[in-house]
Amino acid sequence: MKRSALLVVDVQNDFCEPEGSLAVPGSLKIIPIINQLKADNHYACVYLACDAHPPDHFSFASNHPGKAPFEKIEIDGTAFDLWPAHCVKGTQGAQFHPLLNVNERDVIIEKGTLRHRECYSAFGSQEEDTNILSDLKSRQIDSLDIVGLALDYCVKETARDAIQNGFSVRVIEDATAAVGNSLIVQSAKDTLTRLGVQFLLSSQLNEGS
Ligand SMILES: [Zn+2]
Repeated sequence: MKRSALLVVDVQNDFCEPEGSLAVPGSLKIIPIINQLKADNHYACVYLACDAHPPDHFSFASNHPGKAPFEKIEIDGTAFDLWPAHCVKGTQGAQFHPLLNVNERDVIIEKGTLRHRECYSAFGSQEEDTNILSDLKSRQIDSLDIVGLALDYCVKETARDAIQNGFSVRVIEDATAAVGNSLIVQSAKDTLTRLGVQFLLSSQLNEGS
């Protein structure tokens, strides 16, 4: 019997319509679906990942004179997307959306806390340990259902890291929303599917399990 956890990525005010500084189209309609998944109690544990950026985070266009949001910047041969300032730790924009049900026992995972590093994945990076991996291991979780924002960035990177760390991974697609268009979404799905990530709808969760 698998021990499964739900991992909710970045359902924070700044990523939600209509007022978030980096609002993802369709963000609001996923929240009731996520709340229902939590209420269904399939999960041994629920993780809530969130961006917790310092004000001078390097992904903010405002920290690069002459650059605008959604442009790219190249550092040491790697291109990075620049964004409007978002999810600065301690601000209203960084808080979980008020419609998301948050329970005391949910495990909160902060990421993007280092000024000079991008960190889309809830698993962090070599420089940034978010502690999720050790927490998952300590609870003997072997299977993750991943939902939240945005499918083509933080959900994608989180799912990739999850499967590469040996978890069985499903993305519940109607509980995610994307920044990019349908071609970008398809490319993200293809990449993850090749790695072994399963995509399904919340309505399919109870079928055949
Ligand atoms: Zn961010």
